[in-house]
Amino acid sequence: MNIHEYQAKDIFRNAGIPIPAGDVATTAADAEAIARKFGGTVVVKAQVHAGGRGKAGGVKLAKNPTEAREIAEGILELTIKGFRVEKVLITPAADIATEAYVGIIVDRASKRAVFMVSPAGGIDIEEVAAATPDKIMRLPVDPRYGLLSYKAMQMGFFLYPDLKQARAAAKIMQQLYQAFITSGASLAEINPLVTTPGGDVQALDAKMVVDDNELDRRPDVAALRDESSEAPSEVDARNANLTFIKLDGNVGCVVNGAGLAMATMDLVKYYGGEPANFLDIGGSSNPEKVVSALRIITSDPSVKAILFNIFGGITRTDDVANGIVTATRQNPLTVPIVIRLTGTNEEIALKILQENGFSAMTDMDEAVKKAVALATGKAA
Ligand code: GDP
Ligand code: MN
Repeated sequence: MNIHEYQAKDIFRNAGIPIPAGDVATTAADAEAIARKFGGTVVVKAQVHAGGRGKAGGVKLAKNPTEAREIAEGILELTIKGFRVEKVLITPAADIATEAYVGIIVDRASKRAVFMVSPAGGIDIEEVAAATPDKIMRLPVDPRYGLLSYKAMQMGFFLYPDLKQARAAAKIMQQLYQAFITSGASLAEINPLVTTPGGDVQALDAKMVVDDNELDRRPDVAALRDESSEAPSEVDARNANLTFIKLDGNVGCVVNGAGLAMATMDLVKYYGGEPANFLDIGGSSNPEKVVSALRIITSDPSVKAILFNIFGGITRTDDVANGIVTATRQNPLTVPIVIRLTGTNEEIALKILQENGFSAMTDMDEAVKKAVALATGKAA
C-alpha cells in the first residue's frame, strides 16, 4: 500500500525526525489560508502516489499567500503519471545547502532491511546508482539488533564530513528504521535529506510503502489507505479478493496461482507480447471471482486480447468455465479471448465452453502464442 507524503511525514515526525510543519489543502482557498498561517515562502506539493513530482511540475515555491493560491490552483488541476491531484501539502520552505538520499528497502538476497544512502540526493537515485554507484552506500540491518549506533555513524559520515551533521543524520536513520519496522513498511525513503545554510539536517520529502500483509495487525496504518488515489482497477480487484497489478502491455491475463501467473507473463514476453496485468484468481474456484476478474480486465482499454490460463488442482476448471460464461453474458466481450485450461474436471469445462460458443485448449504454449498474435494483430 502506498501512502501520501503528508502521511509518511506524520509517521516520521512521530518517530522524532526533524521535518518542517505542514498542512493539507483540497482547495486553492485553503492553500492560501495555510500559507498565510505559516507566513513567508511556502512549498506547494502535489499529494499523489508517484515519484518525480518535482519534474512533473507538482512541487513549487510560493513567495506569498496569493501566489500559493495561484500555484495550488494549477497543481490541483494536474494529473501526474496517471494520478489526479486531489490534495496539496503546504509547508514552510527551507533554505537548502545540500541534498542527500536516505532509503530503506527489503532486500530479498540478504533477507534483511537494507539502508541505501547517498550524498547525491534530490534527483533520481536510480540515475546515481547507474552513473556513479560509488556514491551509494548499502548497509543491511540485522533485525535482532536494529540499526546500531556505530553503523548509523558510518552512514552519517558517508553523507557528511561534519561531525554534528553526521550525528544528526545517524539519529535520523535510527528513527527512520524504527518507523519502518513499526509500520510494517517495505520501503521508507527521505529524498531529499537536506542541510540548511545554518547547518541543520532536515527531511523535506517522505515516502513509505507498507506491505499489504502487515495491514491486518496494524489498523491504524491500514486506515491511511486513500482509495481515491489508487488505480480504480486495483481497488476493484482488492475488494473482489483478487491479487491484481496493472501493467503496461495489452494481453490481459487471468491465471490461478501466483507461480503460474508469473510463468504466464514470462511466456507472453517470450513470444513477443506484453502482459497488461498480473492477476491471480487464487487457488479456489469461485465463479464470482472469474466474473470480477473479467470485469476488471475488460475495463482496461489497452487490453487487446484476453488470456485465461487455468491449471485445475483444487481449482475446478468447470467452475472457471461457468464463470466465463456468466461474465460474458453480463458483459459481452469486445476483444478476443483465448482459454487454456487443464486438470480437475477438464472434460466438463471444455463441454460447457463449447456449448456456449467458446473454444478452449489445453496446451499453454499454443494458448500464449495465440493470445500474443491476437493482441498484436498478427493472428492468422
Ligand atoms: P519529488 O520530486 O516528488 O521527489 O518531490 P520533493 O519533495 O523531493 O521535491 C523536489 C525538489 O523540490 C527537492 O529535491 C528540492 O530541490 C525542492 N524542494 C522541496 N522542498 C523544498 C523547500 O522547502 N525549499 C526549497 N528551496 N526547495 C525545496
Ligand atoms: Mn523527493
